[in-house]
Amino acid sequence: MVDIAVIPGDGIGKEIIPQVCRMLYSVDQSLNFIYYDISSERYINNGITVTDKEIGELKSYKSIFFGAIGDFRVKPGIMEQNVILKLRKDLDLYMNIRPAISFKRITGNEINITILRENTEDFYSGISGTLPGKQTFEMKKGIYNYNVDISGNSDNQIYYTMGILSERNLNRFFKKAYEIAGSDNITVTDKANAVEMYSIWRDIASKQSNIHKKKIKFEYADSLAYNIVKNPLKYEYIIAPNLYGDIISDMTSSLAGGLGYAPSGNVGDKNSMFEPVHGSAPDIAGQNIANPVASIQSSIMMLKHIGMNETASIIEKSLKNIINNGIIPIESGGSYTTSRFIEEVMKTSQLPKNKI
Ligand code: ATP
Repeated sequence: MVDIAVIPGDGIGKEIIPQVCRMLYSVDQSLNFIYYDISSERYINNGITVTDKEIGELKSYKSIFFGAIGDFRVKPGIMEQNVILKLRKDLDLYMNIRPAISFKRITGNEINITILRENTEDFYSGISGTLPGKQTFEMKKGIYNYNVDISGNSDNQIYYTMGILSERNLNRFFKKAYEIAGSDNITVTDKANAVEMYSIWRDIASKQSNIHKKKIKFEYADSLAYNIVKNPLKYEYIIAPNLYGDIISDMTSSLAGGLGYAPSGNVGDKNSMFEPVHGSAPDIAGQNIANPVASIQSSIMMLKHIGMNETASIIEKSLKNIINNGIIPIESGGSYTTSRFIEEVMKTSQLPKNKI
């Protein structure tokens, strides 16, 4: 049995994820899904975001399949910080993989770009405050062990957020990035011309590329954004710090067909979690019109990550074939509802291999 934890969450996550799990099980009965009700609904009813017991259990699964969290009744930031960011931190998921792979039938081109985004550091360090004043930030978890004291005076109110990069994290991040990158078309991006700390980013990118015998090129994030839009077919793997990776990966997912076609994975040395990039989409939830492709693609990434390559490839082929044959989700102007689209993937995946 391959035990997978499932967190459908809210909105369209709750709608799509259980149906995708049923489809996956119909293709491979060794999969065993264990559901967790970690959702805004539960928070509204019981005030619980995620418990330490749940975090402990989640660490024991082969992987986690996550839907989406978000509900207008909950103050923005509560669920994001106490569930999504907490899971990334507590499970030490330092690598964010965001492929933008388009279907010709949908976009008219065949973009194949994978963004490998550092997932824990940079300007998401959580070190923020105001001056005049004095603050101590302490981090004693996993590979981190530091104290930062910030104090100062000003005749003006000063607001700051500190970006951090650490050598230990960058070494493991670039090592994993080069293991994932399946070709030598690798672009490492940053703003080393404007932000001093990216010189260490560059040094470690180069050092690890030599160790892993990967050819890389550097491109500043602004120039990269311009060139991706001009010629997306030029790029294959883009390695980015947290903040630029966040922005550039949204841009590439838009080029590849939109949020309904954007899967992602969060990966560490021990744990992993796969999820569609889109949120709970309350405006369309419960109507059976959400595009399930991003969730299906995320599940394919998950299966590959845990070594179930054959099952992954059956579903990947089915997905490609049905879209090529004109089975198009409503989001892209087609007529296939969420459930009918997933049923088509399920049916096609049952065909003999040479017929898929
Ligand atoms: P959240 O607060 O959970 O992030 P949101 O609505 O702010 O929710 P998204 O869920 O990412 O953010 O949705 C942004 C827009 O994209 C919405 O108009 C939504 O309907 C649309 N959208 C997102 N995902 C899909 C999908 N799978 N299929 C169709 N439309 C989608």
